[in-house]
Amino acid sequence: MRELICIECPRGCRLLAEKTENGVNVTGNFCPKGKAYAQAELTEPRRVLTSTVRAKDCMVPVKTDRPVKKELIFALMQKIRGAKLLKNAEIGDIIIENIDGEGTNLVAAAPYTAEK
Ligand code: SF4
Repeated sequence: MRELICIECPRGCRLLAEKTENGVNVTGNFCPKGKAYAQAELTEPRRVLTSTVRAKDCMVPVKTDRPVKKELIFALMQKIRGAKLLKNAEIGDIIIENIDGEGTNLVAAAPYTAEK
């Protein structure tokens, strides 16, 4: 049995979730989103990854454009550490395409203008 706090909305329901033969049993959720959240947490947890990428003269904030598998986060951080932004970027511009091999992109979370 795991205790979780649903992070899908500000209500923050306290959930109890347990794996069963038929899937995941969830209680404490006010709505179906809480059940889906707990099921994902127990079977394949995912997170939006936020970090910074090196540019010529500063670090630029970046994030994935959707949640990635939690188990991949260390490997993805290694990729981000090895990247360098060489051109101007607007918020949402793709910095690393398909970073997780599942179609998730790493995008700029702030604009960047390279110094001339
Ligand atoms: S279970 Fe529903 S109401 Fe409760 S925190 Fe999650 S999304 Fe919000």
